Amino acid sequence: MKVFKGCVNEKCEAYKKKHYRDDYEYCPFCGDKLEYVCADCWKVMEDNSEKHCESCKAKREQQHAQNIEKAKGYGVAAVGVAGAVGKAAWNHKDDIVKAAKVAVKIVKK
Ligand SMILES: [Zn+2]
Ligand SMILES: [Zn+2]
Repeated sequence: MKVFKGCVNEKCEAYKKKHYRDDYEYCPFCGDKLEYVCADCWKVMEDNSEKHCESCKAKREQQHAQNIEKAKGYGVAAVGVAGAVGKAAWNHKDDIVKAAKVAVKIVKK
């Protein structure tokens, strides 16, 4: 598992920008001690076994599932609708299909 270290000094220019290898101990920009951080949200991680924190992992899993649904052929319109409706839509997959059909009609006008 590839993990990241990052500078957690909000004022540092490396903050939320630069990832460091495991053998870096201190930030080359501000000199603060580097922490293991979530690759997505920069939350400080307790250990170096995971690349993403719990909430980002959950988000990514959901995203992955959505990508599979998209790949099944809902089309570009459905992607837009699903993206706009967000999480609620995920719980009503059939509605997404309906919404997608409506969206297609709108696009055709
Ligand atoms: Zn720094
Ligand atoms: Zn995260």
